[in-house]
Amino acid sequence: MPVLFVGHGSPMNAVEHNAFTEALAPLGARLPRPKAVCVVSAHWVTTGSHVMASAHPRTIHDFYGFPRPLYEVQYPAPGAPAEAQKLAGNPEIVPDHEWGLDHGSWSVLRHLYPKADVPAFQLSLDERRSFKQHLELGREIQSLRQRGVLILGSGNIVHNLRRMDWNNPLGAYDWAVEFDANVKNAVEAHDASALAEPQKWGEALLATAHPTVEHYLPLLYCMGSTDERDALSYPYEGFDFGSISMRAILFGDAAASRV
Ligand code: ZN
Repeated sequence: MPVLFVGHGSPMNAVEHNAFTEALAPLGARLPRPKAVCVVSAHWVTTGSHVMASAHPRTIHDFYGFPRPLYEVQYPAPGAPAEAQKLAGNPEIVPDHEWGLDHGSWSVLRHLYPKADVPAFQLSLDERRSFKQHLELGREIQSLRQRGVLILGSGNIVHNLRRMDWNNPLGAYDWAVEFDANVKNAVEAHDASALAEPQKWGEALLATAHPTVEHYLPLLYCMGSTDERDALSYPYEGFDFGSISMRAILFGDAAASRV
């Protein structure tokens, strides 16, 4: 299976139709049909790594102050408890029956698999891990791909909500362009260690691009579970409101892996 990173941006993308959602919609049909999707979402940060093992995950509306229709969205995909239990075979990953699908998952899955007929589960972000340790856990979950599970990282390559420029819906600050380009160059060189040391691009640049790092971390799982043999493509590239990179990265050739 290929591996997909999606910059999810605003929760409103779950219900809107725009260039970003129109790029996601055909992707679900183009990818080989997965047995399940394992989402590493920016919106599930825990102490220790947890895997969501529910058979019927609830739809979590983990945001405030948005219009009512967004709170009415349900994404009733089944869970994948057998796959979750396999991940929990790793002593560092504990099964979790409380969490469901947060908006980092369903705002993207809703466009990829609108019928909610592909089982979905989540792997959390352990707040205690370093960048390098997130990357290493990404390597350890690589076997999901051989089992036909799509690994979906859902975050944003640049994510600074405080600096959003409402007058510039599709523009980008220079520092946002710079950080996004650094990530793109490291991904294209398959330089996983560069991605695990983003502070080397400048402490101030990292702090501006990511005042908190949870939206950056899902990319490390995508990078850890892929290698230089995986072809790269960008199903979507662009910025929202100056300070959010909406870049999506597909690792692995969707068409070739169907053969
Ligand atoms: Zn988010």
